[in-house]
Amino acid sequence: MTKAVCFQCGHIKFGSFMPCDQCQARPRTDDEMIVSLAMSDHYFADPTLEQMSQYIQEHNKPPQLDPESEKVFRRNFEEVKASGALDQLFEEGEET
Ligand SMILES: [Zn+2]
Repeated sequence: MTKAVCFQCGHIKFGSFMPCDQCQARPRTDDEMIVSLAMSDHYFADPTLEQMSQYIQEHNKPPQLDPESEKVFRRNFEEVKASGALDQLFEEGEET
């Protein structure tokens, strides 16, 4: 499964869009989903995920993506959304 950082508490969880097993937060808005999608081992190596996790715990917010990366992640997210994978995900409670 995908290793991902919780956008709210920085806990390392599995599946970008799965509820966090620590704070129960699940990304709902597009922005929350994009940042959750970004902060996963699809895109970053473990040490970077650890840094992001630590950043969230210290600042209580996810690290800002640079505008270029944000564009890429937003596009990826739009593709995932357009494919209907998200609806399926929420129905089955599984990640892609
Ligand atoms: Zn959490």
